[in-house]
Amino acid sequence: MIDGVKQQKWWGWGEEGKAYHHEDKPKFAPFVKKMVGVDITAPVAPVPPFSSLDVPASRLSDALRADLESVLGAGFVQTDDETRVVHGFGKGVRDLLRVRSGRLSRLPDVVVYPGTQQEVERLVDAVVAADGVLIPFGGGSNIVAALEAKPDEHRQVVSVNLGRMNKVLEIDEVSGLAHIEAGVFGPDMEDQLRARGWTMGHHPDSFVWSTLGGWIATRSSGMQSDKYGDIADICRGLTMVMPGRVLTLRPLPSTSSGPSVREMVLGSEGRLGIITSAWVNVHRIPEVRELQAYFFPTYEDGLKACQEIVESDAAVMMARVSDAIETQYIMANGKKSSRLGSLSSKAIQKIMLQKGWDLEKIAMSFVGFEGSPTHVRYEKGLVSKIVRRHGGMGVGKGPGSLYDQKKYDTPYIRDFMLDRGLVADVSETSTPWAYAEQIHTNTVAAFQRAMDEIGVRGVVFCHLSHSYHSGACQYFTFAIADSSPDAEKTYDHAKRVIQQSFMDNHGTVSHHHGVGEEHSPWMDQDISPAGVFIQQALFDGVDPGRNLNPGKII
Ligand code: FAD
Repeated sequence: MIDGVKQQKWWGWGEEGKAYHHEDKPKFAPFVKKMVGVDITAPVAPVPPFSSLDVPASRLSDALRADLESVLGAGFVQTDDETRVVHGFGKGVRDLLRVRSGRLSRLPDVVVYPGTQQEVERLVDAVVAADGVLIPFGGGSNIVAALEAKPDEHRQVVSVNLGRMNKVLEIDEVSGLAHIEAGVFGPDMEDQLRARGWTMGHHPDSFVWSTLGGWIATRSSGMQSDKYGDIADICRGLTMVMPGRVLTLRPLPSTSSGPSVREMVLGSEGRLGIITSAWVNVHRIPEVRELQAYFFPTYEDGLKACQEIVESDAAVMMARVSDAIETQYIMANGKKSSRLGSLSSKAIQKIMLQKGWDLEKIAMSFVGFEGSPTHVRYEKGLVSKIVRRHGGMGVGKGPGSLYDQKKYDTPYIRDFMLDRGLVADVSETSTPWAYAEQIHTNTVAAFQRAMDEIGVRGVVFCHLSHSYHSGACQYFTFAIADSSPDAEKTYDHAKRVIQQSFMDNHGTVSHHHGVGEEHSPWMDQDISPAGVFIQQALFDGVDPGRNLNPGKII
């Protein structure tokens, strides 16, 4: 570990000592039992100690080590086992299954920590001269196998952790642009911006453990993207180190010099070079920030309301709605005394029953507002009318503020589930509005059919997470009750069925998680064989020696 560069657990999400607990949420264990038949209150075996792993030895040559140490200093060239394991995987459920069971495959031989742009340039040239493989590393939070070296990679593999490059370098207050180093983690970046009255407004669920460079390299989206844009909108310029050259794209509001090189770098997952800094849109911190909760009689009503909200004059920062099962999950996951828990109170249920709603079908929604008090009041008025038009009702801002406080704790639940033999993961897609209901219905049905066919219990639920003029992103969470040694195969089956359903129902292979190796098999369906041909030509042209994170995307 390097001072000042934080590192996640080798076996799971986030920091050591932090975990999900169910004891204060009395409805959660019965919910899981009902959905997938698993008793989460039963004792569990602890994760085996790191010392039980059989870590393959580093193959770093003395010559490359000497070159790297001369560029970076010996302290920033690490070959210890735990550092190599942490840098060898992302945080997809497949990664967690593998690392927990000691199937480590081809780990990086060395992890290096450059502190400056010049060091990145020199180390890239040194590694390429030695015909090594370079894999940039941000927070290691991707879930698409974007960091793993090929199992049969015979060359030396160098993981480049950008964590020391973590400063907001400059704010152009006239233009609303900030120049920021790529290795900065979300909270550190926002703290630096907020100290000067600015925010970037990009908040993925993985915010605490992901970096600016990683967001750009995977085309990330955040929960406030409806207002601030996806990272593809936010990132206006950047610097990227390539073998023997440096790409510099100035920050520009827009340009007609195409094909857009900026767009080629966005989502390039380390295949074109190492992003060292970026120019991003930043905004003054809004005076008011509020999340309101609403209920709809059905998910379909909620979807229609979200479409109308995005078409209205209310430029909300977030509008999400959960389907019936996800709504039940959220309510079961609320603490007994909390405002989320109280949503399932008898009083609210009574109102819903009076309205003739089926409690098994209700859909919960959060809508976020930001700006001056007058602006927020105006937006809330517009949204209330839309909600009512679609048969919904508001339940105030209490549940929303609780959701806001707890949103970054949610990822810990996946490790808790895995400890109990429940393999849980997510898949997300975007479609035009015309197919929004269809893709939801058909994907849920395809998953359930697949689980029935193999006789494994599983549950899938979904929320609309981002809205656009022409369509929306829907985010599916699925959990499979399989603690057998075949759990990874069962997961593969479920994941394949869901991804194929996206393709069959006018969706994209992914809306914001990127491609990696996980989604690569669907690329020709996603962008057509000709699109893959163009991408291949780009990668071959820029990186003829296949030194830059080979095997990702295509
Ligand atoms: P890493 O995982 O370290 O790397 C991802 C890819 O980018 C790799 O190919 C890597 O080589 C490349 N890369 C990293 N840094 C650079 C660089 N400086 N230059 C060039 N290439 C680089 N994603 C979202 O968009 N929105 C979400 O809400 C969201 N929620 C998540 C919740 C959980 C629980 C988890 C596990 C993941 C979630 N993700 C989400 C996915 C993930 O956090 C994103 O893909 C994120 O952008 C990855 O950033 P990172 O810094 O961790 O990158």
